[in-house]
Amino acid sequence: MISQTTPSKFKPYTRQTIFLARQWQWLRADLQEAVQVVSHVLPFRTNQYVLDQLIDWDKVEDDPIYRLTFPHRDMLPAEEYEQLRELVLFKRNDAATAAAVRRIRARMNPHPAGQVTHNVPRLDGVALRGLQHKYAQTVQFFPSAAQACHAHCTYCSRWPQFVTMDAMKFQAHASNALVAYLRAHPEVTDVLITGGDPLVMPASALAECIEPLLAPELAHIRSIRIGTKSVAYWPHRFVTDPDSDDLLRLFERVAASGKSLAVMGHYSHAVELRNEVAQQAVRRIVASGAELRMQGPLVRHVNDDPATWAELWSTGQELGAIPGYMFVERDTGPQDYFKVPLARAHAIFLAACQAVPGLAGGVNGPSMSTHAGRVGVDGIDTIDGEKVFALRFLEARNRDWVGRRFFARFDPGATWIDELAPAFGEKAFFFESGDAAGAAVPNGRVIPIARALELA
Ligand code: SF4
Repeated sequence: MISQTTPSKFKPYTRQTIFLARQWQWLRADLQEAVQVVSHVLPFRTNQYVLDQLIDWDKVEDDPIYRLTFPHRDMLPAEEYEQLRELVLFKRNDAATAAAVRRIRARMNPHPAGQVTHNVPRLDGVALRGLQHKYAQTVQFFPSAAQACHAHCTYCSRWPQFVTMDAMKFQAHASNALVAYLRAHPEVTDVLITGGDPLVMPASALAECIEPLLAPELAHIRSIRIGTKSVAYWPHRFVTDPDSDDLLRLFERVAASGKSLAVMGHYSHAVELRNEVAQQAVRRIVASGAELRMQGPLVRHVNDDPATWAELWSTGQELGAIPGYMFVERDTGPQDYFKVPLARAHAIFLAACQAVPGLAGGVNGPSMSTHAGRVGVDGIDTIDGEKVFALRFLEARNRDWVGRRFFARFDPGATWIDELAPAFGEKAFFFESGDAAGAAVPNGRVIPIARALELA
């Protein structure tokens, strides 16, 4: 049963308040317990719209949006769960709980793919913690007011942004540093404003981030992107929020400036586009002159089914959105709970594409956001008698690698690039070497970095 009531005022819930939601009483005791225990490690936040409109409480245990937003006991190994359960529910020892939580989070690879060691740029010798510069043409900006979301995804690769791991956070309190950095880097053409979710900010605060980018001195910035999941978790942001019209007027101003504006809409399941308010949000964004590009990771328990992607992409397309990336779940957080083998991910991607006529080849996937760059799984082939994954850099730290294909031995269980071995008897992939400028990655290999932007 999905409730038909649509709240128009945003109402969030956290571990401390979720028991106030009427749906909490419908949950079995063991599911309630898991939320109370695991949410000490993984950030938990949901809202009334998600509870009322996106979760089917008649089959809640298998519901994709429940799995996506509510912590589950299987997100921790059994031993860790039992240890934490004992501390949280029985010993009630805050110091011991905090220590256990720190240990668990530290082993969860809080910043995969060199986010801290290689992506934080410097200006005049100062590390700019609110920016990431991994690919030459693109800078990511993390406004401090955007370090939350309308609800949190349990698979989130940005989870340290929402917990008390301040040393791990990327955030900028103002856009001055961004502007100064961009002035000094004419090679940058794209700015991605991200978080958390920048659309938790009022339109006026978002305007303070965006409008300086329209200045003539930053004419080299051609494209502004905003990463957001509000299109799914709180589409009222574009429809009924008190400043939703102001937000759309801001989009119009950017479009009128001649720069391209893309809302990178994070969608995880077809149900997120079935409601009228979610569909209205898409129409309003597109009518403002912004593009709405759809993207999301392929995750077990949530969307590991071609029919879900096919419905999501075709509904989005009919409304004017552009289906974009299907990502492979990253190697962070509760990855064991959500990961899908690359071979299966590729099969799901192909089947979904084949089910959506006229997809116009615009979708990309499945792709891994790795230390060296974004690697797409192009296909599974047999070459010279060897079964292989055909892989390709869609983006790379080294521009010369973009578009370059390479091959890995087929492994039906592999879920990430670190689990793959080069094909044809080679000892290393072409981008791996003992280059002195390289950086060790978790599997012990060394990846050369063309533009090392290391912290001191
Ligand atoms: S909306 Fe994005 S940033 Fe926020 S919790 Fe989900 S995946 Fe993470």
